[in-house]
Formats: sequence, structure tokens, C-alpha cells
Amino acid sequence: MATIKLDNIKKSFGKTDVIHGVDIDIKDGEFIVIVGPSGCGKSTLLRMVAGLETVTSGEIQIDGARVNDDEPMDRDIAMVFQNYALYPHMSVEENMAYGLKIAKTPKDEITARVAEAARMLQLEPYLKRKPRELSGGQRQRVAMGRAIVRKPKVFLFDEPLSNLDAKLRVQMRLEIKELQSRLGITALYVTHDQVEAMTLADRMIVMNGGVADQIGAPLDVYSNPKTEFVAGFIGSPA
Ligand code: ADP
Ligand code: MG
Repeated sequence: MATIKLDNIKKSFGKTDVIHGVDIDIKDGEFIVIVGPSGCGKSTLLRMVAGLETVTSGEIQIDGARVNDDEPMDRDIAMVFQNYALYPHMSVEENMAYGLKIAKTPKDEITARVAEAARMLQLEPYLKRKPRELSGGQRQRVAMGRAIVRKPKVFLFDEPLSNLDAKLRVQMRLEIKELQSRLGITALYVTHDQVEAMTLADRMIVMNGGVADQIGAPLDVYSNPKTEFVAGFIGSPA
């Protein structure tokens, strides 16, 4: 479990300013959703927390310690992407175990953690299958499993459900929320879908062109939008 602090985070690619100074204090176990239209900087912000992009200025802290210069592997973070990026030649079991093997986790420990994740995600019947033999929802569960087995301090999600059909998206959304609150792992979740944000978030960050227009509980943002942009974006149906 972990707190995360973003202190005046800015990002430029060359001469283009993409993130203009974002501040937020994230509590231990909180589910934060970053929502906004395509191109507003959601993924960039998340990738800076993950350590996959450098921070141009400002500070990122996890549990009070500056992590700006820490390698992704050292940040105790697990990330789930939209295209699950499973290894096609490996079974479900091997996909979930792979990161732990790389980290030289003892074999018994790997077996135990994979079994536990498979149970939580109802993947036990599919452990020997290859990703191509799974449905979209099952693949998404394997991607979740890969994140869970690492017992990270923080979960990062970048539009993890965008490739699923509407019905499955709603179901997986509930599963993610349930799992996150059961494990109590602090989560940062990116989506362009207002409904998804409203359903999942303890607090949401509404991004507009690299600026956090508003940060607050979904109902608060919905009933008291601070800017015209927020009113239009949150008020309009998905
Ligand atoms: P979102 O995830 O909200 O759709 P992104 O964070 O992917 O937005 O992108 C925000 C802006 O930064 C976009 O204008 C995008 O073109 C730009 N951008 C993202 N990554 C790079 C990069 N590696 N080099 C240059 N520009 C980038
Ligand atoms: Mg994105």
C-alpha cells in the first residue's frame, strides 16, 4: 500500500508542453481516475508515475520518497495496458509467473502467488491455455493476474478495458474495483470514458489540455463542475 504525491508535475516533448503543472495527494488505498478526451495527457501523466517517461519538472513521491530518478522496476508499481501484451507462446500460468521469474523469486513462492491470483481471478481452469485460446475478458484477467502476483504498492491502468465489448467492459470494471478494494492497493486509472470514471473513482482528475481542471469525488465534480469544460465533458453522455 502507498501514498502518491504529484507536486507541480510538468512535461514537455521537445518544445511542446504537454502537462502544465499537475498537483495531487493520493491517499493510501485510494482509487483515482484520470479522465479526459484523447490527447489531453492522461497516458503521459501515468507513464511518468510508472517511470516510463522522465518528468520535465516537479516531483513525484511514493510513500514520501522522491522517485523521479528511480527505474520503473524499483518503483514497486504494476501497470495494466489496453492491449494486454501477453506473451503469445506462453501459457496463462507462464505469463503470470514470468515477471516473478525475472525478479528471481523462489519457485515455491511463484507457484503459490500464481495459484492465489488464479483463484481470485477465476482463471484456474485456464492455466495451461495459450492467450489465443482465451476470450477478451479472460485475457484481461491474465493481465490483471500478472500485475497482482507482483504484490505491488501501486496499480496503474491505462484504458485497460477499451478493447472489450460494452457488456464485458461493465463486468470487468466491477471486477477491477472489487479486487482493488479487497487488496487495498492504491490505484491510478486512466480512461476517456466519463461513465467508467464516475463508477470507479474515489476521486477523479478531469484533464483538459494538460491541465487538471478539477479534482474531486465523482458526485461533487458532477454537481459542481468548476469549468465549462468539466460541465460539458462530465455532463454529456459517453
Ligand atoms: P492521452 O493519453 O490523454 O490520449 P497522451 O498523454 O498520449 O494523451 O498525449 C498527450 C500529448 O502528448 C499528445 O498531444 C501527444 O501527441 C503528445 N505526446 C505523447 N507522447 C509523445 C512523445 N513520445 N513524443 C512527442 N509527443 C508526445
Ligand atoms: Mg492515452
